Amino acid sequence: MKVLVINAGSSSVKYYLYDMPQAEVLVRGSVERIGEKNSELAHFFADKTYTQQTQVKDVEDAMELVLETLVREDVGVIKCLSQIGGVGHRVVHGGEEFTGSVVVDEAVITSIEKFADLAPLHNPPNLAGIRAVQRRVPDVPQVACFDTAFHSTIPEVAYMYALPYELYEKYHIRRYGFHGVSHRYVARRAAALMGREKYDINVITCHLGNGCSITAVKKGRSVDTSMGFTPLEGVPMGTRSGDLDPAILFYLGDKGYDVNKLKTLCNKQSGLFGISGASNDVRNLVELAEEGHERARLAIDVFCYRIKKYIGAYAAVLGVVDAVVFTGGIGENAVYLRSQICSDMTQIGIELDLAINKETRATETEISADDSRVAVFVIPTNEQAAIANDTYELTGQNEPIASEQCCG
Ligand code: ADP
Repeated sequence: MKVLVINAGSSSVKYYLYDMPQAEVLVRGSVERIGEKNSELAHFFADKTYTQQTQVKDVEDAMELVLETLVREDVGVIKCLSQIGGVGHRVVHGGEEFTGSVVVDEAVITSIEKFADLAPLHNPPNLAGIRAVQRRVPDVPQVACFDTAFHSTIPEVAYMYALPYELYEKYHIRRYGFHGVSHRYVARRAAALMGREKYDINVITCHLGNGCSITAVKKGRSVDTSMGFTPLEGVPMGTRSGDLDPAILFYLGDKGYDVNKLKTLCNKQSGLFGISGASNDVRNLVELAEEGHERARLAIDVFCYRIKKYIGAYAAVLGVVDAVVFTGGIGENAVYLRSQICSDMTQIGIELDLAINKETRATETEISADDSRVAVFVIPTNEQAAIANDTYELTGQNEPIASEQCCG
């Protein structure tokens, strides 16, 4: 069965066509710079690359381009769209309603629309992706995989902010958590690598990419996570501040910063970029730090320190930790940062094999020392494979609408 996975954001749409259940990627690609004059489609299939420069005005347009390209005679990989058995979409916010992936129907669409209030930058493009498929191939079932769903098991004691309770009742202000598809995927892979059942181990998963979040996974279920009501909370990120004293914002308000300026400050001008004043990219920062750039060094130090603090906090939450996992562009590749984060943690059972760590980039590898009580892994995340799996599980019993023959 062919499963199409769509990750639609406001400026890009990424897509993957899988042959399931063997999870073979038949084609993958993206439409970047949506809404700009120089939008570009990049389409990778059978060791070939096809690119097309064109103006794409919005997500719906981008989806049209993707769907057309999939069935083109020269670069397409299927004859007609009805050969697709299911389409899985990454959807950022499922509020308190969704505890797992679901088949999309009108009620699900209404809920995704409703939660756009909580994720105004993400849910609308996610929904535009769903609608575009619905319009082109209304009979192909679609599945929504929510970034928040894996965190629906977080207990009240961990999701409640110490604000007046009415704000939770009235505005649903609570910790939701994000990157759930990734945390779930790597936690399960860690269990598999340890030869254990997914509901058998306690793991601290560190998703460190452009956005960063740490999750405490107890017996396969998320019990706490560093991102909160929005993806701004938690550890510092490329350009996001992560946790800070909210009184800093009141103080800056008194100094004349309005809400929009504060939003930009915390989301776009802070984190690694804000401290270093040089870059949000760890590759650049490591180079600069080696050349003696003090604020690049400081940015890295703050980043690693704050991740270490979360690992310690979640070790306390979990009681027993079986594994720590690093994933995301930084977690998978930034050798030096992994060793800095894990330094001096032998007391809580974490010790790296520095030689193995140094050699490990973006491959599933255990990087802990032989006598480390806690196993430490690098596990490349694969959110699209997780979405393809969920879509297959929820729709795999359906026959595709069309067979190869009927497409002529
Ligand atoms: P996203 O969250 O957008 O999916 P990624 O998970 O790809 O992003 O992470 C992107 C970040 O990963 C980059 O900004 C960079 O800081 C970091 N990164 C990528 N490759 C490397 C590398 N080889 N060494 C160190 N850091 C890297």
